Amino acid sequence: MHEYSVVQALLNQCEEIAEQNNAERITKVVCKIGIMSGIEIHLLQIAFDTFKEGTMCDNAEFVINEQKLKLRCRECNDEYEIDEIIYKCRNCGSLSMETVDGEDMYLMSLEME
Ligand SMILES: [Zn+2]
Repeated sequence: MHEYSVVQALLNQCEEIAEQNNAERITKVVCKIGIMSGIEIHLLQIAFDTFKEGTMCDNAEFVINEQKLKLRCRECNDEYEIDEIIYKCRNCGSLSMETVDGEDMYLMSLEME
């Protein structure tokens, strides 16, 4: 399952950051998941709960914020978030759209002790 490898990479990243900051454990992990990332949020939560045991995230709260698809028009520079996946500018009708956000998963913040 895709979410398992995503979570393992995330946990490794968290532990690296914690070690760099001489923290003993991680209390909160906040992530942003793009709706176009292909990641199922509830599966990610399950994967996190499965893999966190024995890591520095063992008792960490896992917060997932969903990021809508955000597009920017190359013609008129309009930039906006959409609910429906339509790659057509709502302002000028151009089909030359660039994805600004909503395709990836990002680690947004960590709380450590
Ligand atoms: Zn436009």
